[in-house]
Amino acid sequence: MRTPIVVANWKLNKTVGEAVEFTSALKGMVSGVDGVEVVVTPAFTALNAVASTLSGSNIHLSAQDVFWADNGAFTGEISPAMLKDVGCEYVIIGHSERRQYFGETNESVNKKVKAALSYDLRPIVCVGESLEDREAGRTESVIDNHVRNGIAGISPEAMQSAVIAYEPVWAIGTGVTATPDQAQDAHLVIRSLLSELYSVELAAQVRIQYGGSVKPENTSELMTQPDVDGALVGGASLEVESFAAIARLAG
Ligand code: PEP
Repeated sequence: MRTPIVVANWKLNKTVGEAVEFTSALKGMVSGVDGVEVVVTPAFTALNAVASTLSGSNIHLSAQDVFWADNGAFTGEISPAMLKDVGCEYVIIGHSERRQYFGETNESVNKKVKAALSYDLRPIVCVGESLEDREAGRTESVIDNHVRNGIAGISPEAMQSAVIAYEPVWAIGTGVTATPDQAQDAHLVIRSLLSELYSVELAAQVRIQYGGSVKPENTSELMTQPDVDGALVGGASLEVESFAAIARLAG
């Protein structure tokens, strides 16, 4: 039985004060919500303050990215140990915006996933095809390539703590959501690949969440799909009421 996971990805939004205000309100709104894991992903600058605000709550903390090295001459980067130090449990890796604007590749995703896991940080590995890929019939091969290479060399034990986020690029921030059938088809491709790479048992344990214009109005129908285990939410996670509603609907 997989517990759905709903993650707020705030991207480049929210000052420390705004992030703390949001999480203070969210605590009260989801304190009685069972059967779903709720995660917030502030900018690096707000992680420490949000961690303090979340103390004693049922909300988990994630970062939006991580670098693979422990320390050294890597100006601007953040290590897995630094994220652990401020209380992160999760880290998003390979978001399509990182791939598109910051040169993230399957190879760098894989190094980051390995580094995160070596510090007991749970990676949320983002995969998904562009509109061009989908229209050219390459959806399955792109997903296969992102997953296979992103998690290459990860042991079955470590893989149990990872999450995969299927995020079709054409649905991110566009208001166009994958249909429940499109999401289910892609999630099944991912779960079948996990069966091939690991085992049917392990594939049945790994959570695969959907991301791409999720909002309260479309959450329920997406969550009824058998292989959809929660949501990675961008735009609709910026308002606490809509994010709390999505969390409740996913539970
Ligand atoms: C995202 O950034 O991961 C995302 C899914 O964004 P949105 O919900 O705005 O499409």
